[in-house]
Amino acid sequence: MPPVSKPGLDHYDVVFIGGGSGGVAGSRRAASYGAKVALIESTHRLGGTCVNIMWHAADIADKIRHHAPGYQFKGPGIGAPQFNWATFKPQRDAYIKRLNSIYDSNVAKEGVEYHHGFARLVSPSSVEVTRPDGTKYTLATDKIVVATGGRPTVPSEEEIPGASLGIDSDGFFDLEDQPKRVAVVGAGYIAVELAGVLHTLGSEVTMVIRGETVLRSFDPTLGEALTSWMKHTGINFHHGAHVARVEGEKGGPLTVHLKSGEKFEVDTLIWAIGRHANTEGLGLEQLGVKLDKKGDVIVDEYQESGVPGILALGDVAGKALLTPVAIAAARRLSNRLYGGEKYKSEKLNYDNIPTVVFSHPTIGTVGLTEPEARKKHGDANVKIYTSSFRALYFSMVPEEHKEPSVYKLICAGPEERVVGIHILGLGSDEIMQGFGVAVKMGATKADLDDTVAIHPTSGEELVTMR
Ligand SMILES: Cc1cc2nc3c(=O)[nH]c(=O)nc-3n(C[C@H](O)[C@H](O)[C@H](O)COP(=O)(O)OP(=O)(O)OC[C@H]3O[C@@H](n4cnc5c(N)ncnc54)[C@H](O)[C@@H]3O)c2cc1C
Repeated sequence: MPPVSKPGLDHYDVVFIGGGSGGVAGSRRAASYGAKVALIESTHRLGGTCVNIMWHAADIADKIRHHAPGYQFKGPGIGAPQFNWATFKPQRDAYIKRLNSIYDSNVAKEGVEYHHGFARLVSPSSVEVTRPDGTKYTLATDKIVVATGGRPTVPSEEEIPGASLGIDSDGFFDLEDQPKRVAVVGAGYIAVELAGVLHTLGSEVTMVIRGETVLRSFDPTLGEALTSWMKHTGINFHHGAHVARVEGEKGGPLTVHLKSGEKFEVDTLIWAIGRHANTEGLGLEQLGVKLDKKGDVIVDEYQESGVPGILALGDVAGKALLTPVAIAAARRLSNRLYGGEKYKSEKLNYDNIPTVVFSHPTIGTVGLTEPEARKKHGDANVKIYTSSFRALYFSMVPEEHKEPSVYKLICAGPEERVVGIHILGLGSDEIMQGFGVAVKMGATKADLDDTVAIHPTSGEELVTMR
């Protein structure tokens, strides 16, 4: 869709800043009610990122390398898959590009006016757009929704000399070839996903983590089980470790020096130590919009910033950084603002948001972790059910390649309401959505027990726990 040619002449009901998951969904929904909507995106690439395709490639590699021989598949390549990163990358990128153009045309179909440029708030009712050629114009509007997302945090050169020799998760998607040896610094879900993909596709991966386990903000059982399986599969770990400096040249071998004095050589270093809100240059603080200590925009339950007319949602507002969360918050906001009486109190409830980690094996989780449940309900009121098993799929696979399944059900109160479900193992990504509904609806342990199992599946374990 070509950007509008004579902008700045109209007055908009709402201007969305950021054409990612939240901005696209919210602007389309607002326009569907007849609102006059502008959407400003700086990169000319509407839509989000996609790590999932890489996960599928890695999953296929695992099946060919470790599982197919157990099922008595023979033939060239079985047991030793050859993955061609260099030809796969353009194919993957072309798919993402197609997705982006679908977003473009959906936005256009709904009547959203798309502006390509960098947005800055001038006042609560005007937004300046700087086009890629440097020309500027201003849009007048009743409301501004900031949906500018976040970006990876990378240490400065002052903090860690040589830090800029590393790449971040965006750089991972730009890699033209598969690095042979990779250091992944960080223990969050992005670190785990990238490390898992690279290792499974055949890179030698070393994780540098501050604590003993990965995924420290998840239920501890998941982090422990995944860390130990990652080690079992051959991923190297430096625990309690901090990078002191990085030496080498961009694109060349790098020497990673740890504060402990240890050092090792890699071809690529990936920083996956967290993300921070994209608020730089937006002019929010000048208008009185408050940011928290992390730099996220502070909003209330209706996504309102406190400055009349300025709202924020998605990653920039710092709560549950997930695509469907940004989309859900955006659609609800547009429903509330333009959908009429029926939606006048509409807002997103951030409780019990199910989420998945595309690790190997995958993780699914919803609700409170065990420490959170104990803190909220008290030890005496919390009952935990656990199960460890191997999925039937692995019955034909050699012992050392049988992935673990570890399930935990957290119940609270005399009625044993299910307040948390945390599962790791084959298929956890697909299993969790339905259980997310159950938890959201307030299911009790008795409700799960009363549901007839689907046999033979891994998911049935959740309705047969004792
Ligand atoms: C490696 C990785 C893997 C992920 N995996 C998953 C997953 O499996 N499942 C999941 O649900 N989520 C996943 N996420 C998170 C998900 O991508 C985000 O939560 C989601 O994109 C947030 O949507 P948003 O609209 O808030 O921001 P974004 O989608 O990031 O969009 C923000 C947009 O604003 C634009 N912008 C910024 N500043 C300006 C400005 N001043 N003017 C104009 N435009 C501007 C940016 O260019 C960007 O396009 C992943 C993220 C990463 C990095």
